[in-house]
Amino acid sequence: MKINLISDTVAHPTPGMLDAMMSARVGDDVFKEDPTVNALEEKVAKMFGMEAALFFPSGTMTNQTAIKLHTQPGDQLICDKYAHVYNYEGGGASFNSGASCKLVDGDRGMMTVSQVEEAINPPDFYHSPRTALVCIENTTNKGGGACWNVEELRKIKSLCTENALAYHLDGARIWNAMVEGSIDLKTCGDLFDTISVCLSKGLGCPVGSLLIGDRSSIQEAIRIRKILGGGMRQSGYLAAAGIYALDHHIDRLAKDHQKAKELGELLTAQDWVSYVAPVETNILIFELNETLISTESFLQRLLAEDIHIIGMGGGKLRMVTHLDYTNKMHDKVLSLLSKFS
Ligand SMILES: *Cc1c(COP(=O)(O)O)cnc(C)c1O
Repeated sequence: MKINLISDTVAHPTPGMLDAMMSARVGDDVFKEDPTVNALEEKVAKMFGMEAALFFPSGTMTNQTAIKLHTQPGDQLICDKYAHVYNYEGGGASFNSGASCKLVDGDRGMMTVSQVEEAINPPDFYHSPRTALVCIENTTNKGGGACWNVEELRKIKSLCTENALAYHLDGARIWNAMVEGSIDLKTCGDLFDTISVCLSKGLGCPVGSLLIGDRSSIQEAIRIRKILGGGMRQSGYLAAAGIYALDHHIDRLAKDHQKAKELGELLTAQDWVSYVAPVETNILIFELNETLISTESFLQRLLAEDIHIIGMGGGKLRMVTHLDYTNKMHDKVLSLLSKFS
């Protein structure tokens, strides 16, 4: 029994999802004639109380489109040092938009309003890049699935308004933050100019992401998606998976959170573990007491049991719970870890 905890992206479509995909009505989405894609876009826009949404093949392309929408070459965006847009998008902000990133040294991927304020370059000081955009990630990926405080998000929104900065949410795992009760989707829709969401993380779809915003932003986003090579044809087969997931796979995220918390509690009690980041959703980040066990031998011992987890660099290890991580697998992992010494 392979137990794969490297990411929530490893989950496979369920039989119900596959049925929904196989029976989807489709058309050519480049001509906006795919009824299932159109239905998904309308559904997601409505969930956030925003005007429009656009279906994309990946979250990276959605974020990159948002950055392109909100910046001109030479501009700068502000994000946390852990941000996906900075760390894991292949340098796309500079490649696609000619934009640089001003990194903030936040807490588990989250910045305070005063940190963001300090990071804004004075607009009349023409020597420094023009600050154009603030990017938020909720939940934070490298930050261990942490959920932002809504009041902080509101304060940063006011700051953006005062300074005429765009405000983008990388909400790849916003569903997890919502299920945890830390924010609701309509509030996100009120706060942000654009939002990207992923269907292929905790929701378990094979492919898919959406960018959500007002009608004119989404109209421009179609052009940028085209330039990035992201126009798809009968993509309703994929959109059908998204509709199915939004109807059936949101509430169950609470089970993933519960399992991650149980793993976190167990690890906290072990002397061979030196640090466990607070577990808020489905991501668990921890460090080993290297004097008792090396990362390499730890990973080897897990692999011998066909348990796969991932290193995040700097001695940090990560486990992510998901749809395919069953109760039976969970029991096996808990029992194995409790016997480790
Ligand atoms: C996964 C992820 C994305 C998008 O990644 P893709 O693999 O391109 O879909 C963006 N932001 C965060 C925080 C993510 O975790």
